[in-house]
Amino acid sequence: MSATQTNKIEIIKSAASKINEVDFANLSFGSVFTDHLFECDFKNGEWQNPVIKPYAPFLCDPSSRVFHYGQAIFEGMKAYKDTNDDVWLFRPDENYNRFNKSAVRMAMPEVPEDIFMNGLNQLLKLDQEWIKKGKGNAMYIRPFMIATGHGVIANPSDEYKFMIILSPVTSYYAGEVKVLIAEHYSRAANGGIGAAKAAGNYAAQFYPTQLANNSGFQQVIWTDDATHTKLEEAGTMNVFFRINDTLFTAPVSERILDGVTRKTLIDLAKSENIDIEIRPVLVSELVEAAKNGTLKEIFGAGTAAVISAISGFSYQDVYYDLPKIENSVANQLKEKLTNIQNKLEEDTFGWTVKI
Ligand SMILES: *Cc1c(COP(=O)(O)O)cnc(C)c1O
Repeated sequence: MSATQTNKIEIIKSAASKINEVDFANLSFGSVFTDHLFECDFKNGEWQNPVIKPYAPFLCDPSSRVFHYGQAIFEGMKAYKDTNDDVWLFRPDENYNRFNKSAVRMAMPEVPEDIFMNGLNQLLKLDQEWIKKGKGNAMYIRPFMIATGHGVIANPSDEYKFMIILSPVTSYYAGEVKVLIAEHYSRAANGGIGAAKAAGNYAAQFYPTQLANNSGFQQVIWTDDATHTKLEEAGTMNVFFRINDTLFTAPVSERILDGVTRKTLIDLAKSENIDIEIRPVLVSELVEAAKNGTLKEIFGAGTAAVISAISGFSYQDVYYDLPKIENSVANQLKEKLTNIQNKLEEDTFGWTVKI
């Protein structure tokens, strides 16, 4: 259903902007939204009535399938403004393609490229004043789709709503992040929905993460569900390990989300001549490296925080502290990536796309 019908987007502008009520220096991630949103409904087998309209709550029937059977997917991407006030997206095709992969896995209709991309571009243009320049500043973009069809009948909905909402963000420091390595709970399983950006994956993580929080850890490092011996993801981020001077990250699989930041960091590491190996990393290797002092860094990678350094991990009730190092690879890669994203450094990879 990747038809490319050209739909003209109706634009209904808000009467007044809320922008002057926003304290851009003190944004808390993902909690402020711009004046408008993009919406398109799937009905009678087709996507129809694409519209940009004022950001506002909307009505949904209590029997909408999303509330009962969890057909809900999303994406997370960012737009950046350069010194000339031009607005750039970072590898938007990756997010678009992944969104439709998630849709297929959740038995939802794919969104045509012109609806996704034109909706996104026009929405960003309309609310571009909300995008601030400078390193770390960005517009976090949240495209999502929910099942709106009526009836508590356990089969896929015949109606869906696709929306894009925008939230201005600034760089943030997550504080010290200590992680617990999962020994019982799993984020994903073979044959499951771990590779889809499905809302339910997050819901399933909340309880084990709460347990970890209660024991003094900020996040969980997920391991493979069958044996809990392989390191897979850190919270909702892909994860990298540095042992001596080599970086390691797991190959993507049915259980691991194919992160855009992950694949970007792999390419950046290669271009910076940093040794990188993509292979399953065992918990036992990590413990061994921590014990003999060769474990230098662990960091998570994802669009929201870009790179989030981890200060130590716990496994089988033993806590292993990581060394505090200057010139970390995490910082080196983060600097390089955010410079490319914010157009402060030449993008030789062709990753940035002007709207
Ligand atoms: C979104 C997400 C990531 C990171 O993906 P990016 O494309 O880099 O933002 C990693 N793991 C999980 C589980 C995710 O949901």
